[in-house]
Amino acid sequence: MSKAIIEHAVASEVFNKDEPYVNWHDETLWFVRQKRDKSSKQLPEWEQLREAASGIKNYVLSHMDELLVSFEQKAKENGVHVHWAADAAEHNEIVLGLLRQHQIGKMVKSKSMLTEECHMNEFLIRNGIDVIDTDLGERIVQLRNEPPSHIVLPAIHLKKKDIGDLFHEFLGTEAGATDPQYLTEAARQHLRDKFMTRRAALTGVNFAIAETGGFVVATNEGNADMGAHLADIHIASMGFEKIIPKQEHLAVFLRLLARSATGQPITTYSSHFKKAREGQEMHIIIVDNGRTTQLGRPDFRNSLKCIRCGACMNTCPVYRRSGGHSYHNAVAGPIGSILAPNLDMTKNADLPFASTLCGSCSNVCPVKIDIHEQLYKWRQVLVKAGYVPQVKGIGVKAMSIVLSQPRFYQWSGRLGRSVMRTIPFVVNNSLNPWYKQRDMPEPPKESFRDWYVRNRKE
Ligand code: SF4
Repeated sequence: MSKAIIEHAVASEVFNKDEPYVNWHDETLWFVRQKRDKSSKQLPEWEQLREAASGIKNYVLSHMDELLVSFEQKAKENGVHVHWAADAAEHNEIVLGLLRQHQIGKMVKSKSMLTEECHMNEFLIRNGIDVIDTDLGERIVQLRNEPPSHIVLPAIHLKKKDIGDLFHEFLGTEAGATDPQYLTEAARQHLRDKFMTRRAALTGVNFAIAETGGFVVATNEGNADMGAHLADIHIASMGFEKIIPKQEHLAVFLRLLARSATGQPITTYSSHFKKAREGQEMHIIIVDNGRTTQLGRPDFRNSLKCIRCGACMNTCPVYRRSGGHSYHNAVAGPIGSILAPNLDMTKNADLPFASTLCGSCSNVCPVKIDIHEQLYKWRQVLVKAGYVPQVKGIGVKAMSIVLSQPRFYQWSGRLGRSVMRTIPFVVNNSLNPWYKQRDMPEPPKESFRDWYVRNRKE
């Protein structure tokens, strides 16, 4: 049974109850953003790289069909089995079918936001498959039975102590241990056994190359390689937007990806896969799951350029102070709030409003997606289509009446100042969310307009 969705604003309020923790979360992500800044400034050609990446992705968006068909053909020539999945359910059934066909009941998996989007783990576990996440952060959240809170740093919402307690409970580490090296070594030993005993491995795909039929998986831990090399069957799941035309384009994206994500010049492992080794099977599942619909929305198709670096989350003041789980979507933060309404407007109508529209996300995006403009456009679409609570629409209509009639505006200002002075509880009360974490300002004696008119006469 699916859990009831808690709106972003409500979930954020809960997250914000522990102020020192929120400050820590905010500073931790800002630290990653600063690393990105330092790293990108070391490349004089940074802006040209962004421009090039954006241009290549624009080409991809307008040649998607040709590129995917070419990729399929080349991959098949390489001996790879290619599957197409129209939606999450089809993707999950394909994975389950392959495992059943090989009588495999256990699988290791490296980081793949697509499988989070498809809720694949829950599906496979319901069908008797033991799925183990092998990315350290993913394994941590899996042991806690919660989703990742960030697309690159899945357990960024947890402190060392939380992980020490978790490993003590599940991996038998010493009680109270918080030393990262000790905890990481315990996770390493725990995962080593899983790698050695699983016959199937699933990886994500960062870039799929139409020209060669090969694909690249970027990790910092080498867990994708370990899983794929030891398994009898390697399944790679990719959203179809991961396609790039040529091998030479990889250089542009790999230089941008790690710098934007964590400030590293390059991910520790950028592993190239092309064909199965002898005795192994390799499968690629190309997934749509709403991407064709998004491609057909002129205002939002650019969001398919995303290379999932997470930079827009690290810089977003709302994400940093509300946490990834408040977004109730596999991909949180600014880009997730553009992708989610495309999948389900009813469930995700709140997300485009979880933004100050400051534009910092668009400024850092390595593929130059106009993120904040798309968030603003989604708001208009959702309001017009009636997915937003009526009270919001009434408020906006009332403001439009006030702001379009100067006399009414002046009168409302006078009334507002007088109410704030004489009966402040009408404005500042527990029903008004604006004042939950703010002090009410002293109302000015006169409006700027009155002051201006008076001084201009003088
Ligand atoms: S939208 Fe841009 S900044 Fe955000 S994750 Fe995607 S590529 Fe990175």
